[in-house]
Amino acid sequence: MSFARYLYLIVAAIVLCALLVAGLAEGKNSGPVEGESHLIPSWASAAPMYCIIAAVGVIWLGWYHLKLARSITSMANRLNNHHNPHTPSPGNRGLKPLNKAIKHRLQDYNQHINQLQQQINNLQIKIQLTQRQKKHTQAIIYSIHDAVIVIDEFEKLLLANQAAGKLFAFDFKNAQHKPIKDLIDHNKKQFVDFICRGRRARVRDTKTEIQFIENGQPKTYHCIVSAVHDENRQPCGVVAVLHDITYQKHIQQAKTDFVNHVSHELKTPLASITAYAEMLADDEANDQQMVKEFCSVIQNQARRLNRLIEDILNISRIESGLIKVEKKPISLTILIQEQLQMIKSYANEKNIEISCPRPIVFDQVYADKDMLSQVIINLLANAVKYTPAGGSVKIQTQVDEISKQVSVTVTDTGVGIPQDELPNVFDKFYRVRANKNQAQGTGLGLNLVKQIIEKVHRGTVFVTSKPGQGSTFGFKLPLAARVPVQT
Ligand code: ADP
Repeated sequence: MSFARYLYLIVAAIVLCALLVAGLAEGKNSGPVEGESHLIPSWASAAPMYCIIAAVGVIWLGWYHLKLARSITSMANRLNNHHNPHTPSPGNRGLKPLNKAIKHRLQDYNQHINQLQQQINNLQIKIQLTQRQKKHTQAIIYSIHDAVIVIDEFEKLLLANQAAGKLFAFDFKNAQHKPIKDLIDHNKKQFVDFICRGRRARVRDTKTEIQFIENGQPKTYHCIVSAVHDENRQPCGVVAVLHDITYQKHIQQAKTDFVNHVSHELKTPLASITAYAEMLADDEANDQQMVKEFCSVIQNQARRLNRLIEDILNISRIESGLIKVEKKPISLTILIQEQLQMIKSYANEKNIEISCPRPIVFDQVYADKDMLSQVIINLLANAVKYTPAGGSVKIQTQVDEISKQVSVTVTDTGVGIPQDELPNVFDKFYRVRANKNQAQGTGLGLNLVKQIIEKVHRGTVFVTSKPGQGSTFGFKLPLAARVPVQT
């Protein structure tokens, strides 16, 4: 109970007692006056009763005021609680557990949302990584020189790199998801058949060699088709890789040709040597003159054999770095004139005119004389060999004082070499297809020239040619340092 209520009760009790005492005292002093009727009480005799009524009225008023005050306080509290919801009030005391539960649930939801947000972030990072990896893989596939084609289980194009687009003449972006058989030209049908067969057979790897004609030239590709599996190890397509092996095939063929050729080249002189030696042994040479002729044939064939074997050995020695080199200053003009004598009879046989270089004041190079002689002989012999009768061969030397180099060129009016074969003429065993029937050879001479000039003497070889008009083969070597003349 509040202090105001206590105060009110005390004051009310005091007032009541005081009025009672006053009323009783008044009643005693004013007893009924003689002659007055006892039935009609006087005002004085009714005073105590008035006092009691007044006291009751005061008490009621006090009580009423207290009640009013209490309800005002209660309203004020409620208003206060409305402004401050945290303050527990009798009204919302039942909502407290509900409020708590909702708060907990909200906290759970918040946590859950945070976790989901984190998962979304992680997924976004993973997607970015996957996209980057995909681009990386695509870049790798696109940069491969070999043609790469991937088809799905419906034989539709899934992926193709630039080399494949170029080989099969399609643009990947437009060709994607189209049936492979609609994309590839009919003359490359064998590839379509091969890749589709590979898909149907679901084999791990299958290989073959496929030949296409490109720009009128045969091209050979080594083709491997492998099954592509999805993450559940189920075959979902095939990948085909086509590697251009035209050059290797060419070299392989050239080697086979070389072995056949060399054996033929070896057999021919050996056969004549054997035959003439047998004739001599059987005394089939009738006179001294005939014996001489037989011996001369045997000698020539033996030299030819020797040259061939020497060429093969020299190339392999230079390649392995085992050749013995003896360099000294040599005048190129003098060396050329010496070698010319050896070729003259051959040129005369074919009625080919050879013109020599004019002597130059200083054309010395620091070189191995035997090797350089071999170079000049090979170039001169080829010029005569591949020039039809009645043609001409011109040898020139030129000194470039600025670059300190001397160049030698051998120009003929021969059959010439097609432009696309020029880069290969210095290759080992390489023989120009169109000129094969012109003369016999091994395809080793020019390779030996290149090895001697470039590997042994740090010079360069070059060639220009026009089919039907002739060729110019040549080389450049550094000039030897001039030694002051001693007087
Ligand atoms: P080969 O023994 O066949 O002559 P080389 O290595 O000397 O071998 O020459 C390689 C090929 O280059 C020859 O087969 C020939 O077709 C071509 N060749 C070389 N020199 C000439 C030339 N002066 N004119 C035309 N073709 C040439």
